Amino acid sequence: MSEAEHIYLIAVGSNMRIAGVGEPRRVVERALAALGEGNLTCKSRGPVVATDPLGPSQRRYANSAAVVQTPLDPEAMLTRLQAIESAFERKRRGVRWRSRTLDLDIILWSGGAYHSERLEIPHPEFRHRDFVLAPAVTVAPEWRDPVSGLTLRQLHARLTKRRSPRR
Ligand code: ATP
Ligand code: MG
Ligand code: MG
Repeated sequence: MSEAEHIYLIAVGSNMRIAGVGEPRRVVERALAALGEGNLTCKSRGPVVATDPLGPSQRRYANSAAVVQTPLDPEAMLTRLQAIESAFERKRRGVRWRSRTLDLDIILWSGGAYHSERLEIPHPEFRHRDFVLAPAVTVAPEWRDPVSGLTLRQLHARLTKRRSPRR
């Protein structure tokens, strides 16, 4: 790995259902593929974790995580992720969509903490989100959160101990 390369942990989420494309799971699988294109190298991808709709809502959620290597700095990486989100958005045209299509968040990166007007790394909410930590712990269990000092495995264990199994 060249010195200019960085490593990112990316959370992938969708609750989009697309006729002709498929369930959110398919959207997440396609997004994971996009995280290995161009100057992005997907080092590891997690399982797609699906959540059935609760109550009368028809929305289904799917989440995953990926470890991505790239020369892009955090600002450029966010711009790149937003471009991928937009590419999925465009596919929605002509159909009625009201819910979230694709969300790509930077959870951690190899440079430690990073803050700017548009970006906060570590992602401020990830320690409380099972839908982020469950797939993330499968791809980078020993990655240490620079803020809490805990590994993803420890953060996930702490979260699941405190909460009921349902997310
Ligand atoms: P949440 O942050 O609670 O997961 P969200 O992912 O649904 O919310 P978005 O609409 O995708 O929110 O993004 C809102 C803004 O969050 C983006 O425009 C981006 O500038 C900012 N942002 C701050 N930190 C991050 C990060 N670590 N990863 C991605 N976006 C971030
Ligand atoms: Mg998000
Ligand atoms: Mg987001």
